[in-house]
Amino acid sequence: MSARPRGLVVAIDGPSGAGKSTVGRALAKRLGYVFLDTGAMYRALALRALRTGTALDDAAGLAALAHDVRIGIEDEGRRILLDGEDVSADLRTREVSAAASRVSVHPPVRREMVRRQQDMGALGGVVLDGRDIGTAVFPDADVKFYVDADPARRALRRHAELVAAGAPADLAAIEREIRERDHADSTRADSPLTRAAGAIAIDTTAHTPEEVVERMLAVVRSAESRR
Ligand code: C5P
Repeated sequence: MSARPRGLVVAIDGPSGAGKSTVGRALAKRLGYVFLDTGAMYRALALRALRTGTALDDAAGLAALAHDVRIGIEDEGRRILLDGEDVSADLRTREVSAAASRVSVHPPVRREMVRRQQDMGALGGVVLDGRDIGTAVFPDADVKFYVDADPARRALRRHAELVAAGAPADLAAIEREIRERDHADSTRADSPLTRAAGAIAIDTTAHTPEEVVERMLAVVRSAESRR
């Protein structure tokens, strides 16, 4: 087990809409850790690609964008700055969700994002949420969770988020898009979504975020006490 100066590295992986960022943010707050929503980084890059007209299958063009782009993460991941501009609201659209999944398949893009995530988490005291945290970004994470929920429940959550953001959408369409994105994320060649060895599986379907956070907190506290 590593001894990073600021605390443990906690990895949370799982499919879209499972509640990872809600519980991850709350867990980080309880621990006094930094929360890093790595999906927001792929979303920010996707938005940049859409805005610059970079094709989503242009690996070299996207890699160049990935190297150049400045992505700022503030307010526990609630505010995302793309080259200094607050794009938080623009990142949650269905178009950007689909584009993020497409830009994330390219190995040079992933290498750059993973390198940044490793830099940000190197000192520990961090909770990261994503798809490949426990497998590729921090295979030596001190605690790994794999958070999942029924697809129907995940679609309902995404739907509620979009309604809250003033972009209501058809529930059936959202469920279909979530399934497509999960399929793409789980079957891509580079770092597919999978449960890391040693990851603790948590099904959030029938639990409130508070219940899930309490359970995670107990696991992390116990790992902290063993450091
Ligand atoms: O977590 P979120 O839904 O915001 O992620 C958007 C997309 O970014 C995912 O569908 C996935 O394709 C990609 N992603 C990834 N690796 C991560 C986080 C997100 O490939 N660590």
